[in-house]
Amino acid sequence: MQYDKNNVFYKIINRELNANIILEGEHFLAFHDIAPKAPVHVLVIPKGCYVDYYDFVLNASDTEILDFCRGTAEIIKMMKIEKPGFKLVANAGKFSMNDEKGQEVMHFHFHILGKPLDDND
Ligand code: AMP
Repeated sequence: MQYDKNNVFYKIINRELNANIILEGEHFLAFHDIAPKAPVHVLVIPKGCYVDYYDFVLNASDTEILDFCRGTAEIIKMMKIEKPGFKLVANAGKFSMNDEKGQEVMHFHFHILGKPLDDND
């Protein structure tokens, strides 16, 4: 699929739209999902224009991929979810399960979902 710049994440990267940004690297941006489905729900996106995981891994440079993957790990640490565990989701295209929708924003992103430890854990 051809990348279409008319999507919200492209606008967030170019600061035409606001987002609750947590961390920015040379090649990635991480921000809170606007409609969180877990206590921690962060989106990590590459700054480059890639439609989905497949497009990203096949066409991005090693530097972009490494920066994106390390940024994802850094968010997991910042959110304190590495010990209780977490879920990483990347939707691509229309495929969906469990009544969830498929990919809605056609700019590649990881959903990081989890719940940090609290004092009772
Ligand atoms: P997906 O269905 O995998 O494409 O997920 C798109 C995600 O982007 C959804 O979880 C939305 O809640 C989230 N989202 C859409 N617009 C925004 C926005 N402006 N800021 C933050 N998250 C957004």
